Amino acid sequence: MTDKLTIGLVLPDVLGTYGDDGNALVLRQRARMRGMEAEIRPLRLGDAIPDDLDAYTIGGGEDVAQILAVKHLSKDGGLARAAAASRPILAICAGLQVLGESFTAGGGTVDGLGLIDVTTSPQKARTIGEVASAPLIDGLTDTLTGFENHLGATVLGPDASPLGRVTGGSGNLGDDSEPSDRVEGAVQGSVICTYMHGPALARNPQLADLILARATGVAIKDLQPLELPEIDRLRSERINSKPRPKSER
Ligand code: GLN
Repeated sequence: MTDKLTIGLVLPDVLGTYGDDGNALVLRQRARMRGMEAEIRPLRLGDAIPDDLDAYTIGGGEDVAQILAVKHLSKDGGLARAAAASRPILAICAGLQVLGESFTAGGGTVDGLGLIDVTTSPQKARTIGEVASAPLIDGLTDTLTGFENHLGATVLGPDASPLGRVTGGSGNLGDDSEPSDRVEGAVQGSVICTYMHGPALARNPQLADLILARATGVAIKDLQPLELPEIDRLRSERINSKPRPKSER
């Protein structure tokens, strides 16, 4: 187990539009509540990305910001080396698209980092609202809940698996998709991607602990349980919230 957990907050100046920096705060706080030392290392545009941090989070943002982000991250290479070394990486929305094979932005197709086998192209209209899913990966049993806001529709290739099967809202393919086809997020090796804002780890403590367990080299069941009734209340309020009427989608 690491003495001090260091969480890389990747490009908060560029991909920090939707409050996803909170994911790094949640990881740090849940580590500290268990008596671990933990710090966040912000890695801004132009900074070298160290490849040996314990975990990385990358957030959502606008199309132009995504182009800046992918240019920097591909030139730097540190995040790709961290993924190759199986270090946990959590990417949200624009972060998901940037880590994928390609996405559409600025009127053209942009090559992503290729750390996860997904491609993203535009939907007819933006998908906005609550999203919930049943987890499909080992170690997660609790309903995943978040807020989606994306124009991009993301298709998974054979090397990526979905994070969850959608039970409310739309997920990767957006509102135009058939409900039976709806999945949310993508997972490949140590990379976990999702459209869930929230921040996702504030709304999904089990997902936060899965990342913490991987980052610290322990089993999730060996992390000391944390009693946080306010988080349980937040989760049940959001999971039980009424779906948006179709006219508002
Ligand atoms: N610009 C991307 C899209 O609209 C990502 C948006 C986001 O990060 N919320 O699909």
